[in-house]
Amino acid sequence: MKYDYLIVGAGFFGSVLSERIANDLGSKVLVIDKRPHIGGNCYSKLDEETGIEVHRYGTHIFHTSSRKVWNYITRFTAFNGYHHQVLTTYRNKVYQMPINLETINSFYNANLKPHEAQEFLKKEIEKNHVRAPQNLEEKAIASVGRSLYEAFIKGYTIKQWDKDPRELPTNIITRLPVRYNYRKDYFVDSRWQGIPLEGYAMVFKNMLKSTNIHIELNCDYFEHRNEFNVTKKVIYTGPIDRYFDYVYGKLEWRTAKFQKEIVELEDYQGTSVMNYADFAVKYTRIHEPKHLHPERKFTKQKTIIFYETSGSDSNDPYYPVNTESNYNLFKKYKALAQQEKGVIIGGRLGDYAYYDMDKTILAALKCYERQLVDSTS
Ligand SMILES: Cc1cc2nc3c(=O)[nH]c(=O)nc-3n(C[C@H](O)[C@H](O)[C@H](O)COP(=O)(O)OP(=O)(O)OC[C@H]3O[C@@H](n4cnc5c(N)ncnc54)[C@H](O)[C@@H]3O)c2cc1C
Repeated sequence: MKYDYLIVGAGFFGSVLSERIANDLGSKVLVIDKRPHIGGNCYSKLDEETGIEVHRYGTHIFHTSSRKVWNYITRFTAFNGYHHQVLTTYRNKVYQMPINLETINSFYNANLKPHEAQEFLKKEIEKNHVRAPQNLEEKAIASVGRSLYEAFIKGYTIKQWDKDPRELPTNIITRLPVRYNYRKDYFVDSRWQGIPLEGYAMVFKNMLKSTNIHIELNCDYFEHRNEFNVTKKVIYTGPIDRYFDYVYGKLEWRTAKFQKEIVELEDYQGTSVMNYADFAVKYTRIHEPKHLHPERKFTKQKTIIFYETSGSDSNDPYYPVNTESNYNLFKKYKALAQQEKGVIIGGRLGDYAYYDMDKTILAALKCYERQLVDSTS
C-alpha cells in the first residue's frame, strides 16, 4: 500500500507528527514501531494483578510551562493534578530534593533561617577553594560544599554514570539548585503538571486514531527498509548512529533496568519515587506507581515497586552521555542527516538529547510547522 509519510517510532515525536500530518494536512501516514505497543518510552499500562497503572520505562510526570504544548496535549487527555516531590534516602534517613532549607537543617541538625543558611553554605563552599570547576565533582562542591556533595551527589552519580565524578565533565549537570525555603514541589517552574487521567497509552491512542493513520507494531525499520512505498517523506525517530549503520562508531548511552516486585502492603514507601544516595545501595531509585494516581481507588492490599538500576547498553538507550567525544561524534552524524534527502531525523534518539516530554512535543510541533507545512505550500 502507498503512503505519503512513513513515521518510524510511535513515541511523542513520531505521534505528534503523525497526528498533525493526518489531521491537518489530510495525508496518509504509516506509523511503525519495533515494540509491541505505541507510546515509546512514555508507555503505561494497567497491571492485571493489582489494577495499578505501571510506567513500563520509568516514572513519567508530565510538566510544562509552554501554553502551546499544554493546549495541544489537553486535546487528547485530561490530567489528574499530581504534583511531584523527590525524596532521597541517605544513611537510613529521608531528605527532600533538590536541596532546600529542610534538607540543610535536617542534614546539619540545625534550625537556620533562609539568610543564615545562605551564609552557612557560602562558608562551606569557600572552604574548598574551587574557583573554576574542571569536572563534575568540583562543580558540585562549588555549588553546595563538600559535605552535601558527598552525601547526596557523589554515590548517586557513580551509580548513575559508572564513572568517578572527577572524570565526568562539568556539563553533565546544570548548576545544582539550592532552595533557601521549604518549597518541596520538584517542578517548581512548570505552570502545569500531572499524570494523564486514563494513562499514557490512551493519550497515544487518541492522538493516532485518524483513519489516515495506519499503525504496524513489532516492525523494525531496518528489517523492512526496502519494502515501504512512501511518496513524500520518512520521519525517523530511532538512534541516529543506527540509521547511518554506525559508520563513525557508536554513540554512548546509559540505560535503566527496572525490577518489579509486588508487595502485600497498601503502601510501601509513601511516595512515588525514592532516590537512594548511598553508593553501597545498588539501586538508584525505588518507584511505587500507585502514588501517581491519588484520584484512583485501589481495593487490593497490594502495591507494586520497581527497583531501578543503571547500566550501559546502547541497544537499550535511555540517557545520552554528554561528553565532548560523544558530542563531536553526534555532530558528524547530524551533518550526514542534513544531506539525507526525503528524511527527517528527530526525537530524543535522533537528536541524541535528553528531552522531557513537553520539549519533545514542542520540537515535533516546530518540525511540523517549519519542515512539513512550509514544504507543501
Ligand atoms: C527513565 C526516564 C524517565 C523519564 N521521565 C520523564 C518525566 O518524568 N517527565 C518528562 O517530561 N520526561 C521524562 N522522560 C523523557 C521522555 O521519556 C521523552 O521525552 C520521550 O520519550 C521522547 O519521545 P521520543 O518520541 O523522542 O522517543 P521515544 O519515546 O523513545 O520513542 C522512539 C520510538 O522509536 C522506536 N524505534 C526506534 N528504533 C526503531 C526502529 N529501527 N524501527 C521501529 N521503531 C523504532 C522505539 O521503539 C520507540 O518506541 C524520561 C526519560 C527517561 C529515560
